[in-house]
Amino acid sequence: MSEPMKIKLDRTMCDGFGICAKHAPGYFSLDDWGYASMIGDGTVAEADRDAVMRALLDCPVHAITELGEHGPLGQRSPAVSPEEATEPKLTSENSEAITEFVR
Ligand code: SF4
Repeated sequence: MSEPMKIKLDRTMCDGFGICAKHAPGYFSLDDWGYASMIGDGTVAEADRDAVMRALLDCPVHAITELGEHGPLGQRSPAVSPEEATEPKLTSENSEAITEFVR
């Protein structure tokens, strides 16, 4: 099973648009001026993942980031493992058509 999603809010970046609290009211609250605070420690329940991800993606100033073993969102390692990502090894059987063409 995968690690639970974890998020962080940088309040110094928040511009008080209130979008996060609209999408995920269980995770963000707004003060009297509309600036967000996080509710809880940033751990997101699997069932709330979509709503929180929407809040993260819709925040106009990118004040919300996803944390985790791969670091903040956008710095994740590729989904394909290095072994899968390598080019297939060409053998003489594979290059037969090219050999034929060159002749
Ligand atoms: S969506 Fe972003 S800018 Fe708006 S209140 Fe939430 S954290 Fe602040």
